[in-house]
Amino acid sequence: MYDIVIIGAGTAGLTAGIYAARSNKKVLIIEASSFGGQIINSNKIDNYPGLYHISGFDYSKKLYDQAISLGCDYLNKKALEFNKLDNYFEVNTIDDVIKTKSIILAVGVTNRKLNLENEDKFIGKGISYCATCDGNFFRNKDVAVIGGGNTALDDALYLSDICNKVYLVHRRDSFRGSSSTLDKLREKDNVSIIVNSTVNELIGEDKLDGISLIDNLGNNKIINVSCLFVAIGQIPENNNLLKDINVDNNGYIITDDEMHTNISHIYASGDIRSKNLRQLVTASSDGAIAAVTAIKELN
Ligand code: NAP
Repeated sequence: MYDIVIIGAGTAGLTAGIYAARSNKKVLIIEASSFGGQIINSNKIDNYPGLYHISGFDYSKKLYDQAISLGCDYLNKKALEFNKLDNYFEVNTIDDVIKTKSIILAVGVTNRKLNLENEDKFIGKGISYCATCDGNFFRNKDVAVIGGGNTALDDALYLSDICNKVYLVHRRDSFRGSSSTLDKLREKDNVSIIVNSTVNELIGEDKLDGISLIDNLGNNKIINVSCLFVAIGQIPENNNLLKDINVDNNGYIITDDEMHTNISHIYASGDIRSKNLRQLVTASSDGAIAAVTAIKELN
């Protein structure tokens, strides 16, 4: 029987693991894909206090190694659902039933899609949700990035160093992302920033050949690109784990300041939690608080 099962090995989940293991709790971290969560795909982290210019992978690996060396068990499988029994929970994967006294949900979010025709068909053939993973396939080609947040700006800057031309398309004329990154993009000769526009058609037969843009006045324009990097934010995954958990109107888990959910001994932390700021520092903070609350209530 575990004291705490943490579902999700992003910053929030791994931080919770570190805190729980340091309190001598028996901890299992379950992760369906790679450890690290979304940040593992970031080229460079510049805004985490004390860690400047570290890559997302190096940061994630350090965090993972720290959690494992402190004694967390790790299971690389998808947690499918949990069931509440008398005074413990069972967490199910496809072939395990894991008993635990408490659960921290740190399942993160998934990439929002444009929901355009052919979007799924062109994934890997000109549609990507990860510039640092796929950018190199489009070295010296013309590409576009859609979005106005930090992911889109960081992606456009990263791609501008390896691609021939980068179009950054945003639906408004002001950006959520950092103004210092925007300034760097404006200085790049091979970056073209197109505002008040969005993509309304993906052009191509077997692969993406171009995108059609529509501006706020209804004018259409076609640009030829080999890849469109979609960076329009994230949404909570429609996840069976959350079926009995109270969520807000957008599907994010509602907690109090101590990371309690509506179910006793189930806590939430990280991007899946309803909150205003989704950053590494807030994910770490959530993870630490969730673990400390769980430890206190186990004791
Ligand atoms: P985000 O901040 O939510 O930005 C999403 C962007 O996509 C917004 O500009 C939004 O436009 C646009 N958008 C949303 N739906 C759209 C649609 N259907 N069509 C066209 N455009 C659409 O997402 P993010 O950039 O992935 O960032 C997520 C969080 O991670 C943020 O808190 C961000 O600061 C953080 N992050 C930080 C860093 C860093 O600090 N270096 C790097 C990456 C991410 P509107 O602006 O008009 O809503």
